[in-house]
Amino acid sequence: MTADVLSKVPTDLFIGGTWRPASEGGRFDVTDPATREVIAQVADGSVEDGLDAVNAASEALPGWAATPPRQRAEILRRAWELMTERADEIATLISLENGKALTDAKGEATYAAEFFRWYAEETVRMDGMVTTAPSGANRIMVVHQPVGVCVLVTPWNFPAAMATRKMGPALGAGCTVVLKPASDTPLTALLMAQILDDAGVPKGVVNVVPARRSGAVVSAMVHDDRVRKLSFTGSTEVGRVLLKEAADTIVNTSMELGGNAPFLVFADADLEAALEGAMIAKMRNGGEACTAANRFYVEESVAEEFSTRLAAKMGALKVGPGTEAGTQVGPLVNDAAVQKVDELVRGALDAGARALVGGQLPERGGCYYDPTVLVDVPADSAILREEIFGPVAPIVTFTDEADAIRYANDTEYGLVAYVYTGDLARGLRVSEALESGMVGINRGLVSDPAAPFGGVKQSGIGREGGHEGLLDYTESKYIAVTW
Ligand code: NAD
Repeated sequence: MTADVLSKVPTDLFIGGTWRPASEGGRFDVTDPATREVIAQVADGSVEDGLDAVNAASEALPGWAATPPRQRAEILRRAWELMTERADEIATLISLENGKALTDAKGEATYAAEFFRWYAEETVRMDGMVTTAPSGANRIMVVHQPVGVCVLVTPWNFPAAMATRKMGPALGAGCTVVLKPASDTPLTALLMAQILDDAGVPKGVVNVVPARRSGAVVSAMVHDDRVRKLSFTGSTEVGRVLLKEAADTIVNTSMELGGNAPFLVFADADLEAALEGAMIAKMRNGGEACTAANRFYVEESVAEEFSTRLAAKMGALKVGPGTEAGTQVGPLVNDAAVQKVDELVRGALDAGARALVGGQLPERGGCYYDPTVLVDVPADSAILREEIFGPVAPIVTFTDEADAIRYANDTEYGLVAYVYTGDLARGLRVSEALESGMVGINRGLVSDPAAPFGGVKQSGIGREGGHEGLLDYTESKYIAVTW
């Protein structure tokens, strides 16, 4: 399957409905993190290519914005069908270039496709509003219009889903797009372009430009007056840079940034359910998710039992190449990711934490880090402040609800939080007090194309998914009318 998938995937730029090499002729390597072998060479887009793509998107905009919503919806629906038919192929490709276990990759392929189906349904439900002005002098009408040409920048950890979570609503709203995928995982994005082309998206409506010089290419596009929106998913660090760039041309921005999710376990929780939820919240994608539980706060009376049982579950996971049958945890995306996880773990151990399982670099080749559970983690450890982005669960104890909330909120991030308790009133009370855009109560998974996904504080601006996700690609126009 793997050789077959790689032989079919496009590796050129997709601009104006045609596949073409980069203007400067460059290509860059894509590697399989399980073996560090080069699996493909992809065209390396230049500033000129980025601006050509903006040009194509700009020329296609009036026609696409004027296309009847039903027709736009049918194309998105067809894209969902094609992705569903090709789900195994998409999953294999994700697993090859990103490293994640095939089961996680299959989950991503389904989740990614669902954004097209959901937005096919939302595209025909773009309601406006009409009301009488309080003075009675006129009517207030509000219509939602496509924001225009959008630049979409996506990360490597969900190479399919982060692309469809942006393209689905953008296309549904009548916008045209230029997608700049992460350089570690451009192949999945190129396959998405091929699928959208097959689904009938007109030329120029979707353009995909992989580029190693991402800063220069994205900056040039964002400074082009024809670009009216920048939607970014990635680290908070790069998000800050892009917000400054967007300020120059006052471009509309959506920022889906890093997370540092707390996972709270109260003594009244169903411990078995909490452990199951912890495994999902921590280990989906091998821990390489913005929603990954990054810090576990467990009430003192159940902390020992929770930690011991979590360590047993983590230690039993099968680590190996993502594409190999039976693998539950694949390699991390690259060597730098392994190094970062290792540094955070070593820092915590040096400061007095204990590893119940894992805690050191494994000897096998490839970009691996073994599942690890740390206890007695000092409150000021970097591992509690920074995104780990790996299979490591640091556990801290708390004694009362107020402390748990205080610890959970003690971070610049605010994407998602998880709460396990048998008392629903407590669950809701704590959810309201948590500074995060999303909360899972007795659930280790919140992502859903039908729900507004996004963060507060330095985890981002805007929402993706749900009806809010569609509105993020529109401008509200107010028309005052006397009739
Ligand atoms: P990253 O910020 O390094 O890169 C993201 C994208 O930005 C890539 O396409 C990259 O090539 C590009 N990029 C990098 N520097 C740039 C620059 N100066 N100008 C323009 N583009 C630039 O993030 P990553 O390592 O690919 O992804 C992991 C991060 O993404 C984590 O912090 C994770 O939490 C976050 N993430 C957030 C969400 C969310 O919805 N909030 C979802 C997935 C991932």
